[in-house]
Amino acid sequence: MIQGIGASAGIAIGRTFVLPNWEWELPEQKIDVADFAREFERVYEGIRTSKSEIEQIKDELRDVVGSEETHIFDAHLAILDDPVFMNEIQGIIQRQYKAAEVAVKEAIDHFVTMFDLLDDEYMKERALDIKDVGNRLLKHLLGAPEITLPSDTQPFILIAKELSPSQLANINPKHVLGIVTLAGSTTSHSAIMARALGIPLVVGIENKLDEAIMTGQSIVIDGSDGSVYIDPSKEIVEQYSRLHTEQVEAKRELQRIADRKPVTPDGKTLELAANISSFKELEIALSSGAHGVGLFRTEFLYMDRNRFPLEDEQFDVYKSVAEKLGGEPLVIRTLDVGGDKQLDYFELPEEDNPFLGYRAIRISLDRQDLFKTQLRAILRASCYGQVKLMYPLISSVDEIRAANAILEEAKRELEAAGIPYDKGMKIGVMIEVPAAVIIADLLAQEVDFFSIGTNDLVQFTLAVDRMNEEISHLYEPYHPALLRMLKMTVDAAKRHGITVGVCGELAGDLRALPLWLSLDVEELSMSSHSILQVKERLLCTSQKESKAVCEQLYQCRTSSEIISILENFTARMNEKTANG
Ligand code: PEP
Ligand code: MG
Repeated sequence: MIQGIGASAGIAIGRTFVLPNWEWELPEQKIDVADFAREFERVYEGIRTSKSEIEQIKDELRDVVGSEETHIFDAHLAILDDPVFMNEIQGIIQRQYKAAEVAVKEAIDHFVTMFDLLDDEYMKERALDIKDVGNRLLKHLLGAPEITLPSDTQPFILIAKELSPSQLANINPKHVLGIVTLAGSTTSHSAIMARALGIPLVVGIENKLDEAIMTGQSIVIDGSDGSVYIDPSKEIVEQYSRLHTEQVEAKRELQRIADRKPVTPDGKTLELAANISSFKELEIALSSGAHGVGLFRTEFLYMDRNRFPLEDEQFDVYKSVAEKLGGEPLVIRTLDVGGDKQLDYFELPEEDNPFLGYRAIRISLDRQDLFKTQLRAILRASCYGQVKLMYPLISSVDEIRAANAILEEAKRELEAAGIPYDKGMKIGVMIEVPAAVIIADLLAQEVDFFSIGTNDLVQFTLAVDRMNEEISHLYEPYHPALLRMLKMTVDAAKRHGITVGVCGELAGDLRALPLWLSLDVEELSMSSHSILQVKERLLCTSQKESKAVCEQLYQCRTSSEIISILENFTARMNEKTANG
């Protein structure tokens, strides 16, 4: 077994196809001064063709993985437009009398070496971008054919030294069962795209190979743990085939209920939505039968880059998600950085208690420029679906009013510019700070909905840092205090006629389902992989019985008593279902 790094989960079993290295045949003869203009024009023509090709790839890719992933190609377009790149090429032509293709090749090598020497992962990635886009330009200058992957053979597992985003964009997931790259990292753009396309990927096996892999060898890869078996034994193939079948079967089995309405046997509808942090997760959410997105953690849009995303960049993503949901709800939470989520390019102060510090809505209200940019992008996207806006970490009425005042400003600006937005867009808040629970009746009069963030609510209610391993045993979501907090929040929401959902991890915990049914919340939002399991349980759990059992929970004195009542009830429900 060769141990690589798992970069995109899933098992693939098949035969290899080794991507040949691209070798250029460059003209050797020198050119004449009289040819300079012609060679420049050839470079310009190559750049024009490359740019329109990249634009086309962007368009095609946007349909598959969404606009968020296509910014990789914006970097390629920027390189082609960069005067420094062009000056280097022209300099080589003029000073060394070299033909356009030779000058381009030398300019690429020059910049790639320069970036590669820097001890900085980001810059090394840029070297890959230059190589990728440079090769495209060279291909046009030389009239060299595209590297084509076989499409008439059995689907295969692609082996490459490294795979550029351009090459990956050309891959048809129907033909490629999985990918192994000798180099590469889990954070590279290619790895991000493989995950988005759902193709298993293992990277970084370069130094683990005793001999080169050849096309047509039998191979098994597991993109979850990075294991690669070349010419595997019969036992290994059988073992992984079984695992693969089990994974597919379990998924397919549950898939049967993806289109079923989330209703209990006694008629209570509990909408099951997805928590996502990028467009690519949406596809998985939708195939899991999610009823919209109950929490879009937008901070991930702000990560993996070196500056704040522009209004248009954000708008593109929000709009793509809203459109893809086709009218199902999309709750966009405004930026929630700070605490454990940092941005490389945004210097946050060192704090003794970062979770209690400068974060989330507090940053938004302090940096109104950033906040308004995000609000404008969300408002503009609101025309493309059922978009709702949600503020994180709210602890007072003042914060809601201050945030809404900026929202009003953003609306006025859009109106003045004649840009449409949904005037009825619903506004909600996360209930994740104990103070918000205590004044839930006041907050409920300011907003259209609540979403309970149990992850933070547990940490703040119990004063237990959710990141601290040392005290993780004290992080008890079933603590009696939390139970009361949940009840207070739901009661306040109901009294004031607003809707209430749950979007923390507890929403996807099967044991908590009777509790949500007894509290009569409207929506649970969770990671996609939990949705079908929760739905399967929901379809056979009576709300009436849940209410009767959960009455007892408020008399419990400890978490373990609460858990034991919930588990016993769940076991009884299961038995009843099993016995028909
Ligand atoms: C929560 O706190 O429960 C929540 C959903 O938000 P996050 O996990 O992003 O803090
Ligand atoms: Mg939170």
